[in-house]
Amino acid sequence: MNTINDDTIIAPATIPGTGAISLLRISGPKSFPIADSLVSFRKGSAAQAAPNTIKFGTIYKKNAVEHTPDTVLDEVLVCIYKAPHSYTGEDSVEIMCHASSYIVSEIIAYALEAGARFAMPGEFTQRSFLSGKMDLTQAEAVADVVASSTEASHRVAVKQLKGGFSSELASLREKLLEMASLLELELDFSEEDVEFAKRDQLDALLDTVLAKIDALASSFRLGNAIKNGIPVAIVGPTNAGKSTLLNCILGEQRAIVSNIAGTTRDTIEETFNVDGVLFRFVDTAGIRETSGEIEKIGIQRSFESIRKAEIVIILLDAVTLCDTLSDTLSDTLCNTLSKSDIDKIYSPILDSVDFTSQKVIFVLNKADLMADFSGNKNVKCYNSFVLWLKEKQLGICEGDSSSEICQISALTGNGVDSLLKTLSGHAKSRLTAASDGSVLVTNIRHWEALVTAHKSLQKVKAGLASGTPTDLVAEDLRSALSTLGTITGEITHTEVLENIFKNFCIGK
Ligand code: GDP
Repeated sequence: MNTINDDTIIAPATIPGTGAISLLRISGPKSFPIADSLVSFRKGSAAQAAPNTIKFGTIYKKNAVEHTPDTVLDEVLVCIYKAPHSYTGEDSVEIMCHASSYIVSEIIAYALEAGARFAMPGEFTQRSFLSGKMDLTQAEAVADVVASSTEASHRVAVKQLKGGFSSELASLREKLLEMASLLELELDFSEEDVEFAKRDQLDALLDTVLAKIDALASSFRLGNAIKNGIPVAIVGPTNAGKSTLLNCILGEQRAIVSNIAGTTRDTIEETFNVDGVLFRFVDTAGIRETSGEIEKIGIQRSFESIRKAEIVIILLDAVTLCDTLSDTLSDTLCNTLSKSDIDKIYSPILDSVDFTSQKVIFVLNKADLMADFSGNKNVKCYNSFVLWLKEKQLGICEGDSSSEICQISALTGNGVDSLLKTLSGHAKSRLTAASDGSVLVTNIRHWEALVTAHKSLQKVKAGLASGTPTDLVAEDLRSALSTLGTITGEITHTEVLENIFKNFCIGK
């Protein structure tokens, strides 16, 4: 897709006043005349400059009769890019000036007067896409790279920017195009009733493509989590120390801590970077029987948070647990469990967790108070709890990676670092496994298109199996192809483009 813009745009690419230097971008056919009208170069002009060069110059105040030190607005460096070797594919210049908001707004005003117009959000990247310098997934990845705040989200975005996702899609489209051309050929010779494409081969090809699309679509849950923060629900009964743990992780008093049960009635979410991975911690309302209407809604939200979480931290007050155990059991019986009390507290939580897809960490909190118990009793309490979990068939065993147990004190911070290491270790191994040679889908638009294409291809498969007329099968195949084409922008609509680029920042 090659389009030529006849207007020239300008926008700051940096935020004025927040650093030493600001960068202004100009792109379009009048870039060089505009630069030459703004900047007095020591030698030559932007128009005559060699491509990809930097020139030093001075910008004088508008209407300055003479060029004297008194009329200097700023001394600047100007990068000159000649089409098509620029970000947008057009003639472009970048002006580096001092980051004064006065200087920046004056330069913009001069450029507007000289014939530029102020750029729309994302317009430089949109021009890059329209001139064929990048496809739509790469253009979207530019915004993701800019927004990436962690090593993990940056890695995923850069892979997409480098065309990782585009090449996976290209290979899928190639397979489907081959299949479509065979079916179209059959349609051309429909009178003769010939079969150019062997049905079992087409079916095998479809299976391969469907499996790949399925894997890409399934990667969205993790890809999205890496981009926006891996959701970690901190759940448990009231007063287990959930808010204290959130505050301890964030290093600030974000949630109200109180020994009055039921203080956290709504979920509180905060993102936090742990060792290069962004997590979204959700402090939830304590789960207990209550007649309070507001608290009930809060508890419902706690269960929703459990369902949406990638990792569930089930927080237990070790002291209460130990008390429960010692109340109900004599010391000698401590390892043989019939824990109806514990069941009552934790069963609803455990029933909401999907142990096959979610990582569950049982955290025994208030370890600092456990010193009040004899070491022996402490160990027995811990072992009893492990036995209880085993009895519930939660798969807690040596080397089990889907769930584990930690002991911490959210109050003193003891053990919290190793809990965080467990979280980041889990996220990194998931990331490595999921992106091993493949890309992660992070964008809901891409995910929706993959799901739609998958549905069309399933119809193709069913059609082939049931002997549906070739023209109908071919139509579903074309529909899948065009849906996949919308991801990279080979097939696109103005509204889709507007929607994508309006979320970019100005100057990108
Ligand atoms: P939540 O209802 O689960 O959010 O519990 P809070 O975080 O509000 O804590 C309830 C009470 O337990 C407060 O008085 C906290 O100070 C106390 N608490 C929380 N964590 C610890 C801990 O690790 N050790 C001790 N000793 N007290 C704690």
